[in-house]
Formats: sequence, structure tokens, C-alpha cells
Amino acid sequence: MTETLKTIITAAELNEIVRGLGSRITLDYASKTPVMIGLLKGSFIFMADLVRSITIPVEVDFIRTSRYGMSDTPSNEAAVTIDTDLDIRGRDVILVDDIIDTGRTVEGVLARLRTMRPASIKLMALLMRRNAGVECPKPDYLGTTIGEGFVVGYGLDYKERYRHLPDVCVIEEGRGG
Ligand code: 5GP
Ligand code: MG
Repeated sequence: MTETLKTIITAAELNEIVRGLGSRITLDYASKTPVMIGLLKGSFIFMADLVRSITIPVEVDFIRTSRYGMSDTPSNEAAVTIDTDLDIRGRDVILVDDIIDTGRTVEGVLARLRTMRPASIKLMALLMRRNAGVECPKPDYLGTTIGEGFVVGYGLDYKERYRHLPDVCVIEEGRGG
């Protein structure tokens, strides 16, 4: 099976997007120390670049949920397979995800985090579908919107491949191979 990759967001564009988001966090949380919680695995590169563009103190943790696994069709429930071990009660939390598609993953995680009584909780996503439904949770901080098509690179995978690519690409399954 061959797959064709088409770059839709270059590394340089990603750098600019991420630095912009980092500046906004630096300003909005000027007198605070937010807890940034990334969703594994897809957000690991985004988080790494993001926190280095923030100049206030931040704490970092990750949660792992599983919907796609090794399949490319999502199941309905996002199971938490690695949970945060930070005490976020009374803290300012920013949940960071790579891409919001239907929004069900972040909805589930937000609901779970809210039960831990943070002082505030905001949602950040690098990518979101342009045609996301009205019921889809709106990120407080968004990198950029994208159209349809499965994207890989900059942390995002297709069957665990392509996470290392510096660009965000749309993947198209080629004929033959
Ligand atoms: P949602 O619950 O919003 O429908 O799905 C969000 C999760 O599905 C994302 O965090 C990501 O892990 C995965 N996902 C959705 N769309 C894509 C895509 O185009 N490419 C990749 N690699 N993952 C995606
Ligand atoms: Mg994800």
C-alpha cells in the first residue's frame, strides 16, 4: 500500500502559529502558573514547541486517551489510559490537543478534569476542522482550521507512522502497491 502526502502547513508556518499561541498564553496568564495538559500522543511535538515559546512559568503534564488505536476509524468512547498525576484543584488548566475533529475526545477529557475542581480550564487545539458541527466544543486558543482529509506529521500519525514529519500533511491512499 502506498500513501501520498501533501503538505498543507509547512514547518515555518507551524512555527509562526505556535509562537503566536505561546505569546497569547504568556499575556493571558501573566501573573499565573498554568498547568498545561497535553493529550498523547498527538500533541507531544506541539506541546514541546509551545511551552518553549511561553515566557511565564508553566507546569506540564499529559493524559493519554485512546480512540483510534491502530485503526483509522474512531470508536465512540475515549478511554483514559494514562491520567494526570498533578493535583489540579484550584489551578488554571489549559488542555492542549493536536486536532479537534468531532470534539468528543476533548469533551470527555474536559468533563473529567472539571470534576477535579480546577480554578479555570481552557481548551487549546493546534487544528480544528472548518466544518465542525455547532455542538463541537470551541477552543479558547486555536492554531488554525483545516478542511477534510486525514492529516499527519508534527506529532500526528497514521497507524503510528509520520509523527516525526516537520510539516502537517494530508494523507491520500494511492492506488496499487
Ligand atoms: P475527535 O474526538 O475530536 O473526533 O477526535 C480527535 C482525535 O482524533 C484527535 O486528538 C486525534 O488524535 C484524532 N484525529 C482526528 N482527526 C485526525 C486526523 O486527521 N489525523 C490524525 N492523525 N488524527 C486525527
Ligand atoms: Mg489526539
